[in-house]
Amino acid sequence: MAQMKQKMMYRKAEILNRIQLRQSTIKDWLSCPLMFRFRHVEKLKPAHRGVAAIHGSALHLAIHRLHTLGLKGDVRMLYRDALTEVMLQESDIHIAWKKSQEEDMLGMEEHACEILTGYAGLEVNRNCNLLYSEVQFKVNIGGHELKGTIDQVRQHSCGEVDLVDLKSGMQRPKAIALHRDWQLSLYAYALKYGMLLINGSWVRVRLSVDRAVIYHLRAHERYKRKSKYGLIGEEKGRPFIICQKPVWDHQRFKQDLLNIIKMMTKDWPFPNPTSCGFCAYQTACQDRTFLHASPQITRVKSDLAELEMLGANRKERIC
Ligand code: SF4
Repeated sequence: MAQMKQKMMYRKAEILNRIQLRQSTIKDWLSCPLMFRFRHVEKLKPAHRGVAAIHGSALHLAIHRLHTLGLKGDVRMLYRDALTEVMLQESDIHIAWKKSQEEDMLGMEEHACEILTGYAGLEVNRNCNLLYSEVQFKVNIGGHELKGTIDQVRQHSCGEVDLVDLKSGMQRPKAIALHRDWQLSLYAYALKYGMLLINGSWVRVRLSVDRAVIYHLRAHERYKRKSKYGLIGEEKGRPFIICQKPVWDHQRFKQDLLNIIKMMTKDWPFPNPTSCGFCAYQTACQDRTFLHASPQITRVKSDLAELEMLGANRKERIC
């Protein structure tokens, strides 16, 4: 047993070698350190891909392409193409459809049309000067190279720069959380000190961000029935959640991020059950429970065997 445990431990250097320091990797660790270990350290293939994640990625891609068409494209076709492309990525992992593939895809398409029509119709989106969209970045922080993708960077006519993060989740993010949002701070840090991949070349843009903005795409959903919140056909709200305060305390962010990396590279995985609902590593998690159980495992096994025998005996008696 001791030998098995020894084999399952990873040193800091090994973990750093095995993982890619991307925003998504850190997000996974923050969601559930055990899921992070399965996915990024042990490199286990997820059991499935979630419909919500696929829909979110397709919406991001469709919005990116909508901007290249001056927000005038056929939103249904744009979404269909984007969805097909996203589904083809990691096509060896099955998609956990909720109803059936046909029904789910139809529902996603209708939802996307509502969102994209609302997005294209909003004046501020049509008039914005989009500096970057879905742009890849890399930045060195404390000797670690971090990579990721920034959804949008917009510049206003007054010269102020907005960092925009598109969110397609059900829950509307809270403005208060933006001040401490490490992901937005990472993007701002990368724009200031890192490099962006522009037309195939890494470019240092040294851009200072004035505001962090969450764009809640579901604000473009329309009420299907009359309620105290709005009338039938009305949009559900304003999509922008803005952090006006100059939050870019880069030093504080840097320290916070280095602390996260220190924790991530300790081989101390533990479960966070609040993330189980959308986890694709349920089986690995269940198996691990048996694998890491103390020497009591033998007793548990014998108890189970005994229960089975009792079951068998009962069956025999019924027969
Ligand atoms: S099932 Fe829950 S606890 Fe287990 S790895 Fe997934 S999120 Fe973590």
